[in-house]
Amino acid sequence: MVKLFLISGIIALAIAIGLAIEPRQVVIAPPQTNTQNTEELAIIAEQIPATGTQNPPVALPLETLPEPLPETKIPLAATKASLIAPEEILQGNVGRITTDDAPFLKKVVFDGVEIPTFVYAGKPRTFIAIDLAKKPGTYDLKTTLTNGETISKKIAVIERKKPLVEEVSIPEKIGGNTEVGQNNYLTSMNEANTDIKNIVTAHAITWTQEFIPPLTNITITNPYGYGVSTGAYVIPHKGTDFKAAVGTKLVAMNSGVVKISKNYPFSYGNMVVIDHGLGIETLYLHLSRMDVKVGDAVARGQTIGLSGDTGYVSGPHLHLSIKVGGISIDPMQFLKLFNP
Ligand SMILES: [Zn+2]
Repeated sequence: MVKLFLISGIIALAIAIGLAIEPRQVVIAPPQTNTQNTEELAIIAEQIPATGTQNPPVALPLETLPEPLPETKIPLAATKASLIAPEEILQGNVGRITTDDAPFLKKVVFDGVEIPTFVYAGKPRTFIAIDLAKKPGTYDLKTTLTNGETISKKIAVIERKKPLVEEVSIPEKIGGNTEVGQNNYLTSMNEANTDIKNIVTAHAITWTQEFIPPLTNITITNPYGYGVSTGAYVIPHKGTDFKAAVGTKLVAMNSGVVKISKNYPFSYGNMVVIDHGLGIETLYLHLSRMDVKVGDAVARGQTIGLSGDTGYVSGPHLHLSIKVGGISIDPMQFLKLFNP
């Protein structure tokens, strides 16, 4: 009797909270070649079979990474100061605009879009993030200084080589290469991407020191920017994968506020996202444990959780994404921007 009551209670509850009697239809996105809005599909790139086509892990200590792109100094009319800006920016990289002395930047417009400016280490800065899919070519940079002077220059966006790796499949643990698996993945990813898109960034930067790597021992297993062919389309990997056994301590790359600390079981797994202000965000995926919650203010170097293998992965690792103005850029190049 009690049992019967319980069962009918559960059914009533299921109906009340809207659990569908019939399975919900999930629309599978059609194959596409435009990768602009498929940023987080990048995660598929982690599903490369352990044998065969996977790039062999490469140890890349920070010191051996490419230097920031060469910058040019443009003398300013009214003072002895110069505007420092890159001549060219690789797709997926971040260009830095600064001056070597006062006056400060007032307004920076790149390709018709105003980019926020801030002061770091006593100098004005602007970060121009170039989407991995931005068309190579020459774009206008227009800078207005606080003394009223205006400088215009052209910046070239250079094509990034995107090595292709071969087909990937959905892991068995989230449904395998079936319609169910695909629906699980797409639904989970859409949820995560919507949460990321809805983040409201702080109006000022939340940090005064350089960004640091999220792990002590840096071994990159899959770099930023390669493409994964699924036959019908190519999915870009818009983050960096680090070798990390389950339970490896992860730290906040800089001070900020936690905006997401949530499990997306069929895509990013346990994910922590920290807002560092002015549209700069760090995203830590596939964690085994999350030690922070939404709204927490975190300090640079503070433990935010442990790495793991949750979500869409073929093995334990940390996937790190860094967004600047909504664009996922190469995390390792971003770290290099903070060298003096
Ligand atoms: Zn990854």
